[in-house]
Amino acid sequence: MIKMKTKKNILTILPAVTLVLIGLFTVYIILSSYFYAKPEEPEREISSADTIQVVQSVSSEAVSSEDNTSPSGLDEAFSELILVNAQNPLPEDYAVPELAEIPAQYLNGELTQISKDVLPFLLAMIEAASRDGVNLLVRSPYRSYDTQTMLFNNQVQKEINKGYSRQQAEINAATVVARPGTSEHQTGLAVDINSTASTFENTAEFQWMQEHCAEYGFIMRYPENKTEITGIIYEPWHYRFVGINTAKEISSLGICLEEYFSIKGE
Ligand SMILES: [Zn+2]
Repeated sequence: MIKMKTKKNILTILPAVTLVLIGLFTVYIILSSYFYAKPEEPEREISSADTIQVVQSVSSEAVSSEDNTSPSGLDEAFSELILVNAQNPLPEDYAVPELAEIPAQYLNGELTQISKDVLPFLLAMIEAASRDGVNLLVRSPYRSYDTQTMLFNNQVQKEINKGYSRQQAEINAATVVARPGTSEHQTGLAVDINSTASTFENTAEFQWMQEHCAEYGFIMRYPENKTEITGIIYEPWHYRFVGINTAKEISSLGICLEEYFSIKGE
C-alpha cells in the first residue's frame, strides 16, 4: 500500500514538476538571449587622443564654474601661491616639482616638461584654442637651475659683447633673463607660448591668450605697464599658472602677481 501510494503521488506531482521545469527553462532562454544580444564593447587601445579627451572633460568642468569656490581639486592645490622674482628667489634646497611630459605635437622647443598638476590645464587651453583655429605651442616650460644658469650666462655674454662691464652686463641681463633661482620656469608653473619675440603681441595667438588664458588658470606674468614692479621686461609670451580663481581675480583687477601678493598680504 505504501509503495502504491508513493507511486501514485509521484504520478500526481510529475506534471507539475514538468511545468515548473519548462517555466524555468523559458526564463533562462529569455534572460540569456537578452544578455547575449548586447554587442560587446570592442577592445580599445589607450592613445594620447584618449588622454586628451579625458583631460578636456575634467578641465571643461573646472572652467565652466563661475563662482568663487574652487572648481576642482587641482585648482585647490594652488590656493597657496608662490611668488618668485629677484626679491623672492627660490630657496637653494627648492625641490624639483613633480613633472610631466607635454605631448610633442604641442611643443616648439627643446624643453618638454611642466608641473604634473598644471599639465591638464595647459592641454585644455591648447585644445580650446585649437578649436578656435588658434595654434598655441609651448616654447619653454620647466627649466632646471642649470638650464637657467646657462641662459643667464648667455645673456650676460651678449651684454658684455655690447661693451658693458661684467657687473653692468649682469644687471642688464637680469631684466631679460631671470637670474638662476629667480625664474618661474624653475617651478614648472610657467610657460612661454609660441615665441619670445615682442612681435608675438601682434598675433591671433596672443589675442586669444588675452581673452581666455585666465579661464584655464594662467596669467600674463609680465605686463607692459608693470615692468617697474615685476623688474622684468614686457613679455607677452610668458604665462604663469596660478589657478583659475586667482587668474580670474588678477585679470579682472588688472594687476600683476606682485601687486596681488601685497593686496592679499594686508
Ligand atoms: Zn618665460
